[in-house]
Amino acid sequence: MIVVRMTDLIAAKRDGKELSTEEIAFMVNGFTAGSIPDYQMSAMCMAILFRGMNDREILDLTLAMESSGDVLDLSEIKGIKADKHSTGGVGDKTTLVLCPMIAALGVKFAKMSGRGLGHTGGTIDKLESFPGFSTAVSEKQFIENVNRIGIAIAGQTANLVPADKKMYALRDVTGTVPSVPLIVSSIMSKKLASGADVIVLDVKCGEGSFMKTKGDAEMLASQLVRVGRLAGKKVTAVITDMDEPLGYAVGNALEVKEAIAALNGEKCGELMNLCLTLGSYILIDAGIADSEDEACSMLKGTIKEGSALKKLAELVEAQGGNPNAVYDISLLPEAPVKLDVLSNSQGYVKHIAAEDIGLVSMHLGGGRITKESEIDLSVGVVLHKKVGDHVDAGEVLGTVHAASEKSAAEAADRLRSCYEIVSGRVRKKRFIKGIVR
Ligand code: URA
Repeated sequence: MIVVRMTDLIAAKRDGKELSTEEIAFMVNGFTAGSIPDYQMSAMCMAILFRGMNDREILDLTLAMESSGDVLDLSEIKGIKADKHSTGGVGDKTTLVLCPMIAALGVKFAKMSGRGLGHTGGTIDKLESFPGFSTAVSEKQFIENVNRIGIAIAGQTANLVPADKKMYALRDVTGTVPSVPLIVSSIMSKKLASGADVIVLDVKCGEGSFMKTKGDAEMLASQLVRVGRLAGKKVTAVITDMDEPLGYAVGNALEVKEAIAALNGEKCGELMNLCLTLGSYILIDAGIADSEDEACSMLKGTIKEGSALKKLAELVEAQGGNPNAVYDISLLPEAPVKLDVLSNSQGYVKHIAAEDIGLVSMHLGGGRITKESEIDLSVGVVLHKKVGDHVDAGEVLGTVHAASEKSAAEAADRLRSCYEIVSGRVRKKRFIKGIVR
């Protein structure tokens, strides 16, 4: 019997060699079980960051991670199951808009979502803005809800891809987060373990995201799609701009209100554009539409007829929340203090630091500094001006929603400094930068 040793695997990857399927499984299983220590896995992550992995190695790493814990068995759900993932953005309430639209058209949405940490928000926290809403749904209830109303959104079970939880924590403190093979295996292992047939991925590109350039985002998107397809899934990646927050609201209940406005057909910036694009590829891959045009008009129909909004209310009710809040947003949490932030200068908005806006919301109490932090669902910011907009001195840039006058005043200064205003006209960058299928 050949004895595999982690030191040999680290040296092999350091020297640019390929790891076999068995070696990768040994490494993932050993690390998850605790027989491979953090320092060896850290060295391996760094070797992977510098040397990379080929498609076969990334697929093996993804599959080994996927099977490190529970794998959801969704075979009892009838019909095509879709899922969606974003590589992380500020103000990203896409799931709250897209999933009800898709479910209203008969494609099942069985989604496991995460909580927010640091400057990014999590869908689970946002949904908990609905009074009574619970994301701690048993697997049986989750499947029953999807079969009955076509949609369920639950928190990730503690044992879903434990290898990723351990590896991500290590990567976070060893400078190895921005490695394409490690990002791909992290994302795709969770998507595969969640059991969907059709997957759309929103790969963010720009200052507020992992991939700062279009070239890097394209590389990540292609690799995600290749690995997903090799694993037998229908996968599309949409590359989108993250040089400013998505839409106008940043903060849990504020984002829910914006999502409801979008489902009511109100103006919502690029949010609906993104939902229509992601949604079109879901409908095409699910075999419900033949073309983007057809898919788009079906999706728009769910807004016009109110069926997507109704689906959101059904989701809220099925998971213990008050569905009336979908039609009466005064039932959602509201911060006691609102402070308008005025511009000091006149000109055009050139840039809004997305990550810093996320931090403003976090410091107001809307995000977690540590995993254990309690969050205030009511606080955050609502932007009034976006990139390309003209602004006069004294005009409102945004409104801070805070728990106290003091925290509002602090946030106001921070919010103002997130804006870069220049004298010349600013051309808005293309929001959807590419599609990889
Ligand atoms: N999102 C993930 O889930 N994992 C990564 O490694 C990066 C983004």
